[in-house]
Amino acid sequence: MTRPEFDLWIAAFRQRARRAGIAERVLRDALAELTPAASVIEKDRNQAEFTRPVWDYLDTAVSEERVDTGGMALAANAALFARIESRFAIPREIIAAIWGIETNFGAIRGAEPVVPALATLAWDGRRAAFFEGELLAALKILQAGDVSRERMLGSWAGAMGHTQFMPSTYFDHAVDFDGDGRRDIWGDDPSDALASAASYLSAAGWNEGVRWGAEARLSDGFELSLTGRQTWKPVREWQALGMALRESDALSAAEPAAILLPAGHSGPAFCISRNFEVLRRYNASDAYVLAVLLLADRLAGRGALQGTWPRALRLPDRAQLAELQRRLTEVGFDTQGADGLAGPNTAAAIRAYQRAHALPADGFATLDLLDRMRKR
Ligand code: CA
Repeated sequence: MTRPEFDLWIAAFRQRARRAGIAERVLRDALAELTPAASVIEKDRNQAEFTRPVWDYLDTAVSEERVDTGGMALAANAALFARIESRFAIPREIIAAIWGIETNFGAIRGAEPVVPALATLAWDGRRAAFFEGELLAALKILQAGDVSRERMLGSWAGAMGHTQFMPSTYFDHAVDFDGDGRRDIWGDDPSDALASAASYLSAAGWNEGVRWGAEARLSDGFELSLTGRQTWKPVREWQALGMALRESDALSAAEPAAILLPAGHSGPAFCISRNFEVLRRYNASDAYVLAVLLLADRLAGRGALQGTWPRALRLPDRAQLAELQRRLTEVGFDTQGADGLAGPNTAAAIRAYQRAHALPADGFATLDLLDRMRKR
């Protein structure tokens, strides 16, 4: 991909920002002497190539140490969590778990200046439109005076503060919960940041009276092609089909639910409610959402997972997954492109292939499946 020199790009962006209503004084202050951050580009490239089994991710994200730290964080901020719960109707364990997964309860909030990082990513081009939108939102935050450029720090990808809000999310959903006139998600006091996360989930449609779901057990003959978030049925219908909740009262019989197999049919199964989907608005990765919810369950005193992860499974890297996608498409199971990322179209194509070959139709990509397709 060709891209203009950074300075030329900044000059053109400056015009677009002016048209979007950013004041000249803000542009002058924020964009002066910017240079692209090489480390940001490198991290973006690494992330794009990186795939990690869900169990490895959960080992770190929901470690015993994190459960302990979370218990202490809940106790130390009990009054704050009670106020947030009563105003936004989001369980404190959910907010605490987001805090834990995002920044280890505020310990690692990111030290990257956000404007240069976002300008670099918008210029670099892999997800230019997304990052330019976030850069504009960051400038709007500076213009509103909530934070100075020097204090506007975050991750290399522009996620800011205790709960790692992107600037656009901050702009739309952050709240001044302690009433000091600023929406401060960056400082040591987590009040505004945690309330902002609750505000966001509330706006996204969190249903107070419903659990996110629970671990489930599927009978031997369970129709695996029904798993995945494309199929929603009341819990009682799933039960009639052979699903049993590990915690029998976790969801009511009439609750709409879907069945997820994050590691395929040989791993744990989960029966999820719409609240799982609400959390995907925070971060659309199933592994992320599962980490938040499993940590939240532990913080609420519920037990650890009973199922075991199929750690011996061999999983494709991004290039191998792209090859699997190409091969599936060639033999008539269209994955709608071969980007090396396992999305719903790929899962549907794998399920169709598995059904056609009398394999367990869990839609899960493994190296064994790729090996089988290479041999045909
Ligand atoms: Ca405040």
